[in-house]
Amino acid sequence: LDYDKGQGWHDGRIVPYQPIMLDPAAKVFHYGQTIFEGLKAYLTADGRVLLFRPRSNIKRMNLSNIRMSIPTLDEELFLEALRQLLVVERDWVPSEEGTSLYVRPFVIATQATLGVSPSHQYKFMIILSPVGAYYSEGVNPVSIYVESGYVRAVPGGVGEAKTAGNYAAGLQAQEEATAKGYSQVLWLDGVERKYIEEVGSMNVFFVIGDKVVTPVLNGSILHGITRDSVLQMLKHWGYEVEERQLSMQEVADAHRSGELKEAFGTGTAAVISPIGELYWQEKAMTLNGGRTGELSQRLYDELTGLQRGEKEDPFGWTVELKG
Ligand code: PMP
Repeated sequence: LDYDKGQGWHDGRIVPYQPIMLDPAAKVFHYGQTIFEGLKAYLTADGRVLLFRPRSNIKRMNLSNIRMSIPTLDEELFLEALRQLLVVERDWVPSEEGTSLYVRPFVIATQATLGVSPSHQYKFMIILSPVGAYYSEGVNPVSIYVESGYVRAVPGGVGEAKTAGNYAAGLQAQEEATAKGYSQVLWLDGVERKYIEEVGSMNVFFVIGDKVVTPVLNGSILHGITRDSVLQMLKHWGYEVEERQLSMQEVADAHRSGELKEAFGTGTAAVISPIGELYWQEKAMTLNGGRTGELSQRLYDELTGLQRGEKEDPFGWTVELKG
């Protein structure tokens, strides 16, 4: 789809995957006016294609659009574009256990002027990519570096928008953490660097005593759809959950006292990713003996089962692709 001021979103089309031509002065190259989304389509054992909570993605995409001064998209138009594309590309939805078709909708500002102001022209595109099982041999805990030097988002900034700049801001820290042997960075708040925000591409949960605690949506972390699904599942199962400010010191104290049972990340790619080790202030903490916790495993099994249509979906989250 294209957008022109005056004309609105128009000219929806499906074309073979190919490079696109943009003017070197296109605003997206210079000022990062762009947003994206990520969701997955799954093939069920009986040959149906299921999307997981696509309306949540379009709602979040429009929140990102508003924050980045990009015109919003109609929810039904988005879903129809996705439906038509997936009908054409249905054969690309892989069938093996753990696999899925990753769907990446995004918008870029294409107007060719160098002035710093919202673009008058945009392109909305959806690209697809089959993805293999995130865990080839069962769920594996990850080790995480708690970042005290760099910050990714600040109050009033663009942290809760799914926009390129947030990811660009994290690249150097991610590179340094990888060199130290850690797979991801855990970001702390951008003011005091005390409170836990999120991991590079996941929201985080901690099981402390008999409660499950996750940082409250404070304007600088992404409204993760897996996060929301996990919160709803935990409440449905009768767990006591808390969405609140959570400091790294509290987590370290809970670890020392034995109250910290397990921790995990949530996101579209990994679904549930148990955390085996946290490195903070020159010290490494091993969580749950470096093994996958009971709750992480249960959430992983339930959520992946539901996404693949193997388990009952009491929440009405899966949407079958018709056509
Ligand atoms: N935080 C960030 C910064 C992310 O990029 C992602 C992945 N989209 C998440 C959290 C998890 O969000 P979701 O569960 O919607 O994939």
